[in-house]
Amino acid sequence: MNSSLRQLPKVQTLMDSADAARLIDVFGRADVTEAVRGKIEHARNKLLADAPMPEAILSERLFWTDISETLDQLREQSLKRVINATGIVIHTNLGRAPLAQEAIAAMSGIAKTYSTLEFDLDSGKRGSRHSHAEAIICELTGAEAALVVNNCAGAILTVLSALANGREVVASRGELVEIGGSFRMPDVIVQSGATLKEIGTTNKTHPEDYADAISESTALLLKSHTSNYAVVGFSTSPTRESLSEIAKTHSLPLIEDLGSGVLVDLTPHGLPNEPVVKDVIAAGVNVVTFSGDKLLGGPQAGIIAGRKDLIDRIKRHPMARAVRLDKLSLAALIATLELYRAPNDPIARIPVLRKISEPIDLIRARAERLAERCGSIIDLNAVVVPSKARAGGGSLPLQDLPSFALSLTHKNMSPDQMAERLRGAKIPVIGRISKDKLLLDLRTVGDEELTDLSSMLVTALSS
Ligand SMILES: *Cc1c(COP(=O)(O)O)cnc(C)c1O
Repeated sequence: MNSSLRQLPKVQTLMDSADAARLIDVFGRADVTEAVRGKIEHARNKLLADAPMPEAILSERLFWTDISETLDQLREQSLKRVINATGIVIHTNLGRAPLAQEAIAAMSGIAKTYSTLEFDLDSGKRGSRHSHAEAIICELTGAEAALVVNNCAGAILTVLSALANGREVVASRGELVEIGGSFRMPDVIVQSGATLKEIGTTNKTHPEDYADAISESTALLLKSHTSNYAVVGFSTSPTRESLSEIAKTHSLPLIEDLGSGVLVDLTPHGLPNEPVVKDVIAAGVNVVTFSGDKLLGGPQAGIIAGRKDLIDRIKRHPMARAVRLDKLSLAALIATLELYRAPNDPIARIPVLRKISEPIDLIRARAERLAERCGSIIDLNAVVVPSKARAGGGSLPLQDLPSFALSLTHKNMSPDQMAERLRGAKIPVIGRISKDKLLLDLRTVGDEELTDLSSMLVTALSS
């Protein structure tokens, strides 16, 4: 046993070799040393347990291939780029909104240096992080004041904590929404220290239901945009104007959680009427909350906009500090908001809006180009078919976006097997399976991704 232990190469000798030097150039000395030491240690333990000398120790070539693979795996990140061929534009599991160039540039500029994040250049004193985005949010929404926090869930929690703690929140049963990731409106209300006063029924709530529910202990009226579902058929809910009247009569704030929240009218692009933030505020809603990374097309953020006295109270609450936005997202958000300012055309510049509004013939052409490039893959059948894409992210729940997909079947692989191989590709490709076909929807794949996508297909699906 001792003699085979003596056969084990010395770590230092291995580290002095040319093979080690090549790996050190790529991975650094510490990681290579650790991998080599680990491998030798493993072999020593085997020998001590009277097992035979591992193959990889006997052959130098095998040894270094093994080390190199170990180091590659160590380096592989869990958070990485994927190609979204699901047809869902704002896909929460795939990171929602890809950012505009301008937003990326702004982030990287602020990342490199110190900044005026909380510094007032005029007075030389401490400034407010909220000040940077406030003016442009007010300009784009018509609000008197605004602040931004980490996400829309944080925004609602902050608003309710600041304005309703210890009192009642009046909300309609038809609007007690659950969004993904176990975020339920009733739970958030409880978490803020308020009590939920449910009114109306699932399908019908009338203005009188709100009025009747108001008492001494009422803090505010809460409306929520039912972003990921719709109550259709025999249903009514009061207009914002009528709710605003009731709120005003009782000197109570009317709050609305818009979820997605769009800043421009999307109806000219064939999209139905998502409430535009400016119109909601004009209709008399006192404070609105909405996301930065849904239809707005920016980074993860939650925007709170509305009446100045209410926003001031919210800004002062400790919750606002706990869920404050980081400087990189703030820079990206401001740069994205700038793209909504004339003469910029947000639809052309913001990736989410561009993808949602892209004309169908361009998508078909892209699908056909991809089909052509897949022609060389043996045993694969790829045909262009009409498809239905979605805005996603809890926006426009009833709206299909017309699209085209590449429909794939393979002689030796099931759709599930193809999907699994594509998920395991160097740049993972995520499609969807429908009726025993693997569909790759081209609305969510950019022209600039087509070369990568086809090379992933060739590598993953050649049997
Ligand atoms: C998406 C959504 C939220 C949560 O927004 P996040 O930015 O993901 O925290 C809240 N309310 C509604 C209605 C939503 O659609």
